[in-house]
Amino acid sequence: PYDGPSAVEIARKRAEFLSPSLFHFYSKPLNIVEGKKQYLYDEHGRRYLDAFAGIATVVFFTNSGTEANELAIMMARLYTGSHDIISLRNSYHGNASGTMGATAQKNWKFNVVQSGVHHAVNPDPYRGAFGPDGEKYARDVKEIIEFGTTGHVAGFISEAIQGVGGIVEVAPGYLPLAYDAVRKAGGLCIADEVQVGFARVGSHFWGFETHGVIPDIVTMAKGIGNGIPLGAVVTTPEIAQVLTRRSYFNTFGGNPLCTAGGLAVLKVLDRERLQENAFIVGAYLKDRLRGLQEKHQIIGDVRGAGFMLGVELVTDRQLKTPAKDEICQAMEHMKDMGVLVGKGGFYGNVFRITPPLCFTKEDADFFVDVMDIALSKL
Ligand code: PMP
Repeated sequence: PYDGPSAVEIARKRAEFLSPSLFHFYSKPLNIVEGKKQYLYDEHGRRYLDAFAGIATVVFFTNSGTEANELAIMMARLYTGSHDIISLRNSYHGNASGTMGATAQKNWKFNVVQSGVHHAVNPDPYRGAFGPDGEKYARDVKEIIEFGTTGHVAGFISEAIQGVGGIVEVAPGYLPLAYDAVRKAGGLCIADEVQVGFARVGSHFWGFETHGVIPDIVTMAKGIGNGIPLGAVVTTPEIAQVLTRRSYFNTFGGNPLCTAGGLAVLKVLDRERLQENAFIVGAYLKDRLRGLQEKHQIIGDVRGAGFMLGVELVTDRQLKTPAKDEICQAMEHMKDMGVLVGKGGFYGNVFRITPPLCFTKEDADFFVDVMDIALSKL
């Protein structure tokens, strides 16, 4: 027998948590709790013949990070009535037309129309002209608004730590000032938590929290489903109202299988205290990597937080010349010794260390020892 929430309880939760663009077909919505072939059953065991299969989504979810960001951008444009979007150079936000426009690396742009997108100077503490001075970079956001738009923008989108871009931590102090400038121009602030979110930074559950800002829209994917195609857009009820003006439809978005996977991920994160693990083991790993930097000249920078760490290889520490070939060799050596690590950044010279959140201290030691040997072999 069914012992889940009643139809009334579900209706109440829907009204509270889900997109207002979702409409009911019936005056008294059904609570379908079981399905077999062409038959569906409600909570009282009543059977219905399903002549509308596949249109069963009730939830405001997407299937990928790209879709989540596309939707967020669309909502910002609808809400503000403006078109211009500001994103950071070196960012990655997806591969559909809007998100590819917002993405700011030539490696990820293919014949895209760059309409209404402005790329702000990247607040990159290692390679940026202003070092770690967030305030100086934020001036560029103001200038883009003043000199590149009507003075009104739809929104600003940014990761807290650029993932594809090579684990670049946005300079401290930058986001509060950038958010402020964007809000003064009527825009919404979107936090792309697709890669950095879901406890990965360790100290907080979300990357934006480490900067002390509160976004208007948060997009998520990747870690939310731990391999299952699931993405989501979270915003305030007021902003969500815009989707009553332009309904958003997504066949597989919010399907029961993937959302059950998402719920399971949340439970495991909690039960296994994985955020705490990311915090403790991540700090230990970063510390050990810093030790490695003292030994190997080729390591130009060690950065990141929790389990989102980057090690940038350069052939000259002063000139910061990207060690593109060396990193490939080191990756091969590490693979031969049984360690798989990511690589990225605009020049492809950054180790991207983003392990599963269950990574242990012993794993961290093994990882660093293997990297040490691999770099010694160069
Ligand atoms: N935003 C960020 C920060 C990402 O890292 C990615 C994927 N690399 C995306 C968006 C796009 O997500 P997806 O690949 O699920 O479309």
